[in-house]
Amino acid sequence: MSFVARLLPVAALLLAAACTGAQSPAPAATASPTASAVAAATPSASPSATACAAHAATPAVTEGPYFKAGSPERTVLYETGMAGTRLVLTGRVLTATCQPVTGAVLDFWQADAGGTYDNSGYRLRGHQTVGADGTFRLETVIPGLYPGRTEHIHVKVQAPGKPVLTTQLFFPGVASNAGDSIFDPALLITLTDSGDGGKAGAYDFYVAG
Ligand code: FE
Repeated sequence: MSFVARLLPVAALLLAAACTGAQSPAPAATASPTASAVAAATPSASPSATACAAHAATPAVTEGPYFKAGSPERTVLYETGMAGTRLVLTGRVLTATCQPVTGAVLDFWQADAGGTYDNSGYRLRGHQTVGADGTFRLETVIPGLYPGRTEHIHVKVQAPGKPVLTTQLFFPGVASNAGDSIFDPALLITLTDSGDGGKAGAYDFYVAG
């Protein structure tokens, strides 16, 4: 190998090092944080965070006359032999950018399948606290109609240290939705058959985190 041939790789290395040294500050300043942020977000939060980068807050609606403080802590409101179509409602409590609101409290209350509230006890009333993933699960029945109202489940949502959101959830395909002045399509549960004669419902709440 000639002397020049032996020098060429050395020269190439020196040139590469010089170029890297000259150029590295700019790319590092712009590309590196973005790349690392994407890499960090990709495993869990990225898809949902991207899908709801500025999600609208869940609307509030009237509390109505049947709220009762002091409901028991429980996720199963259904009781053996209770009339009506069984419903398992699941979902999450999230911020506008889809981060789970750990420690949010959900307090549900509803009429039974005949459209009647229990105002002396706590039947079909219960509260629960969501965990670190923001998810909740409620086992209940689809509420019945009562005069002036379509089918609905009442709920209060409170993120830690934040104001209470009082709202109601509605059911798709109910003829009386159209005539209910409180009905809001943004509060519609997604409803599917659960395969055992009951229904599976899904709803995500978006609140200030
Ligand atoms: Fe009601």
